[in-house]
Amino acid sequence: MLSLFLHNGGAASKGQLRCVVARLLSTTATTNAPTTTTTPGSEHFDIIIGGGGLVGTTLAAALAKNDTLADKRVLLLEGAGEFKGFDASGPYQNRVSAINRNSIELFKSIGAWSHIEAARYKPVKQMQVWESNSDALIQFQHDNFASDVACIIENDLILDAVYARVREAANVQILNKARIECVRLPKDTSGSHSELQLQDGRSFSCELLIGADGANSIVRKEMGVDVFSMNYDRMGLVATLELGDDVCDNSVAWQRFLPNGPVALLPLNEKLSSLVWSTTVSQAKHLKDLPPAEFVDALNEAFCRQYARVELADKAVQALNSFFGQQATQNQLQYPPRVCAVKDGSRATFPLGFLHASSYVCSGAALVGDAAHRVHPLAGQGVNLGFSDVRYLVESLAAGAYAGFKLGDKQHLIKYERKCLAKNVPIMLGVHGLHALYSTEFSPVVLLRSLGVQLTQNLPPIKNLFMKGAMG
Ligand SMILES: Cc1cc2nc3c(=O)[nH]c(=O)nc-3n(C[C@H](O)[C@H](O)[C@H](O)COP(=O)(O)OP(=O)(O)OC[C@H]3O[C@@H](n4cnc5c(N)ncnc54)[C@H](O)[C@@H]3O)c2cc1C
Repeated sequence: MLSLFLHNGGAASKGQLRCVVARLLSTTATTNAPTTTTTPGSEHFDIIIGGGGLVGTTLAAALAKNDTLADKRVLLLEGAGEFKGFDASGPYQNRVSAINRNSIELFKSIGAWSHIEAARYKPVKQMQVWESNSDALIQFQHDNFASDVACIIENDLILDAVYARVREAANVQILNKARIECVRLPKDTSGSHSELQLQDGRSFSCELLIGADGANSIVRKEMGVDVFSMNYDRMGLVATLELGDDVCDNSVAWQRFLPNGPVALLPLNEKLSSLVWSTTVSQAKHLKDLPPAEFVDALNEAFCRQYARVELADKAVQALNSFFGQQATQNQLQYPPRVCAVKDGSRATFPLGFLHASSYVCSGAALVGDAAHRVHPLAGQGVNLGFSDVRYLVESLAAGAYAGFKLGDKQHLIKYERKCLAKNVPIMLGVHGLHALYSTEFSPVVLLRSLGVQLTQNLPPIKNLFMKGAMG
């Protein structure tokens, strides 16, 4: 049993040893008395959110804003130090997200959107996605450019906006440098509490523990749910880029599928864009360390270089375009603006992978955000799915509280899980499928994907269906 908790190569910290002892004592207590009680000395809350990233903090703000849940005491635990805030007059940050309409609606409902609007964000009017092995391309825009496809917002600005709402909520307490070391969940629905201990030894109990603690979630591990995960052996290289003088509006998001993965430019303002370049681990490290001028050359080349063509795919795309005639010629390939510099110190790499928990709930606990699911950033869906979890969870908890259910009641939490699975699974499979489909230069696959993309481009009803799913 001890080995179960000593998972850091055998070198247990004091906190881990405390957890082992607490667990052994609690096991004895459980054996003697079926209904466990809260550990003496631990402070009790209605809801504890483990993890104050984008999703956990937004959840805290949404719980605080909900009238039915306004009497619940909420604790937000974040392992990192206090959030330093966001300076809208400072340099742009390298971590940004493409935020869809549903997420913007959530921000509006919790009073965070005005904060973002007053700072800075960039609406995207069109998205162009294209191939490197054929002429296939797809362009997305809403209502003939009348409304935005998405908004590009810096992650720290989102955090700043939702933190501001949490700080003014009387029923939510925030603890920073509060890393959860171990968790104990009730074994059944007998009314016992969820308990946790921090690395510094403090302990807490609650009716419902929400794991918003990211892809390596300690809450998910304690829930014992099956997890399907895979490492893509790819890194996402991010950077802030300066564009050439010839740019007038910069409101298009560009993504080109290269043999090693997609490279994307997301607009930040008239002169700056943000880069997300997904590629092999070795190429990402190489690009990150290149001298700035060489890096800029490599990036510009990635957007216009001619890769090995699949002739049959090119011919099929041309045939489809001539079949669709006038409509197809309106959708010609455009090229992104030329990048002229990379901001000092803005290059950083992140590992990419896929993860999905088989279940998002158990008695006394629920998962949200990357703790439950993690996707490739190629479709800009990751945090948007997390925000949709937030919306579903708050709705379910409010409906349950109104109907007299306990917050940690699994029978009720399952309703939350069902809604999430119905929304998340098709999107996650779609994103993973795209990654797999574009990870090969095998001619028949290039032909099929080129035909699929070009058909979608030329058939507005299908294109609108995709947009509805992906853009909220
Ligand atoms: C390169 C890249 C680009 C992306 N672009 C987009 C995009 O355009 N659009 C989009 O929708 N998504 C995008 N994503 C995905 C998005 O960034 C993630 O889905 C999102 O950040 C997940 O947020 P989260 O709060 O669930 O988890 P995390 O951001 O991982 O936050 C978890 C938090 O929990 C804390 N924590 C962890 N363990 C503990 C513990 N034991 N105790 C206490 N606290 C703990 C951490 O400190 C952290 O603050 C992108 C991802 C990458 C890598």
